[in-house]
Amino acid sequence: QEMVETLRIQDLSLQMAEQKIIRERRKREASEKAKQIFLVNISHEIRTPMNGVLGFAKLLEESLVNEDERESLQMIIKSADQLMAILNDILDFSRLESGDINFVNQPFVLKDTVRSIYRLMEPAAAIKELKFSYLIPEDMPVVLSGDAVRLGQILLNLTSNAIKFTEQGEVRISLHVVEKLADTVTVEFQVKDTGIGIPVDKHQKVFDFFEQVTNDTSRRYAGTGLGLSIVKRLVELQGGEVFLDSIVGTGSDFYFRLTFGRVTEQVCRKTLQLL
Ligand code: ADP
Repeated sequence: QEMVETLRIQDLSLQMAEQKIIRERRKREASEKAKQIFLVNISHEIRTPMNGVLGFAKLLEESLVNEDERESLQMIIKSADQLMAILNDILDFSRLESGDINFVNQPFVLKDTVRSIYRLMEPAAAIKELKFSYLIPEDMPVVLSGDAVRLGQILLNLTSNAIKFTEQGEVRISLHVVEKLADTVTVEFQVKDTGIGIPVDKHQKVFDFFEQVTNDTSRRYAGTGLGLSIVKRLVELQGGEVFLDSIVGTGSDFYFRLTFGRVTEQVCRKTLQLL
């Protein structure tokens, strides 16, 4: 009788513990959701007046002749641009989290996408006197079918991180064909740097929402901790995978694989002619 009673009590306390865990999980999920809704709303609210600030500052820049005034205005524009980029990251991340995002599947010239990211980041690499290059092998199909804008966004995030966290040496973007089938081709994109590196215990964590390696890093290097979580989701939602090899003090090697559609000779020619 006593044993039955003890078992019953044990069972009851187990049930209570389980309920407590469920309650806590629900609370966590609700607070996570509230945080996201808050972020989306606040980002939207800030973006509208920011558009005004940026728009008028750019207008004014064109008409100003005084060099000092122009410089001050350029600082305003730079800060506003940065703020807009952060807001867009937050909105993008929320959209990705809620699955409210569509990918296009259209022919595009792969080397143009890569080159445009290279060009965009070239000045930042030049300021730090880094060797900066990209390499596309001969066997890579020229025209592929997929979402070129999203691919550009992924490459831009990884490349700007690579430059941001590298003080000397080089940043290299390289592409490899992983598998070429009749209708598809899987490409590996690699962004490799000789920067500060990431400790092994953070290799998974850096892909989390708002994660930055250390407070020290986040103070020295501006950022939101959103870039890599956006990269991971953008790649995974397209059926791909992201990897990271990194050694502290030596450098980081971020790479991801994406599968694209192949196009016919005719579509290829048409795409190249259109550009
Ligand atoms: P952010 O760069 O805005 O802080 P990310 O999500 O892009 O956010 O990166 C998260 C963190 O991962 C960074 O704060 C940094 O600590 C680390 N990290 C990302 N890329 C690199 C890199 N190439 N080298 C060293 N650390 C990196």
